[in-house]
Amino acid sequence: MNEPDSGADTRSERTPTLPTVLRCCVALAAVPGRFLWPRRPDHALLERLEVRPLPTASTEVRLTVLTQSTMSAAAPIVAEGVRSLRKIPMSMGAFLVEHPKARFLIDPALCAGVHERVLPELPFPIPTLVAPDKPVLGLSDALAAHDIAVGDIDFVVPTHLHWDHVSGLLELPSSVEVRLPAVEYDWAMSGSHAPVSVVRGPLRGRTFDRFELDGPPVLTFPRSKDLFGDGSVVLVDLAGHTPGSVGVLLAVDDGSRVLLAGDAVWSKLQIDLLREKAQMPGQLFDADRDAAFTTIHRLHALPDGIEVIAAHDYEAVTARAAGSAGL
Ligand SMILES: [Zn+2]
Repeated sequence: MNEPDSGADTRSERTPTLPTVLRCCVALAAVPGRFLWPRRPDHALLERLEVRPLPTASTEVRLTVLTQSTMSAAAPIVAEGVRSLRKIPMSMGAFLVEHPKARFLIDPALCAGVHERVLPELPFPIPTLVAPDKPVLGLSDALAAHDIAVGDIDFVVPTHLHWDHVSGLLELPSSVEVRLPAVEYDWAMSGSHAPVSVVRGPLRGRTFDRFELDGPPVLTFPRSKDLFGDGSVVLVDLAGHTPGSVGVLLAVDDGSRVLLAGDAVWSKLQIDLLREKAQMPGQLFDADRDAAFTTIHRLHALPDGIEVIAAHDYEAVTARAAGSAGL
C-alpha cells in the first residue's frame, strides 16, 4: 500500500505540554517503590513460551553500524530495581543493511542539527530527558563515511516511529519509501496529536508501504514477515514499546544471527534480569507496559546464538561495530 502523506501544521499536532508534565509527575511518584520492589518476572509466561525454529536463510546480508551520537542514563532508569547509580552509556544511530536485491536502513535515526530541527516538536520536558550528546553525526555524513550516498538507499524500515528512529529521513530523498506495520503508522499518524515521543515533521511527505506481520511464529515471537522471502531479513513482532514495534532478525554474512531489537529494551541488562525500564520515563515512552514486559520475556527466552542488539545498547552496538570493522 503506497500513499504519500498529506501535509498538515506540525505545531497543531504536537503533543500538549500540560498532560505530558502531569504524566511525568505520576510516573516519577512510582519510581521509589519500583526501585525497591521491581516488577516480578512472569514465570508462568516463560514456561508457556514456545521456541520455534530459526528460519533457514538462503541469502546473507552485510550489516554496518552507523553510530551518530551517544547519551547516558543511570542504571536504575534503564532497568528498574538495579541497585547501582553507575551511568550506562547509550548509543543512538542507524543500521545499514546490504542485501543482494536492496540497500536499506533500519532506523534512519538522526539528522544533523536534530536539536534545532526536531527536538522543538517534542513537548516539555521531553527534550530535556532525551537530547543526544553533541556533536551529532547526520545521517548523510554517517553514510558518506562508508562511501554510501543518500541516493543509494532503496528504502527504510523503522523499528518504530519515535523521533530518534526516523529523524534522519530529513536527509533522505523523498522517493525513499518507509516500510512499516500498518498498526504503527495508524498509531503515530492518526488523531489530532502525536503520541509522546513521535514527531510527525520528518514523516511528512514520505511514501509509506504499510504491511501486516502475517507470517508464522519465529523463535519466541508470535508473528513475522520475511522481507525478501529468503530468510535473510525477517521482521518479528516486538509490540509494547509502541503498538507496531518490530525486531529485525538478520542472517549476517559473518555467519551470525542478529536481532535488531529497537527500543523493546534499552539494554541487554533488562533481558538478562527481566526488568522493565524505570517507571519514569518508561510510563511515558512505552505505549503498553504489559505488552512491553511480555516482549522482554520473549527476548529472555530466546535460544543461544542470537545476538540481540537494542538500538540504544551502547555495549552491544559497539561490539558489533568493532566486529564488522575487523572483517
Ligand atoms: Zn529510541
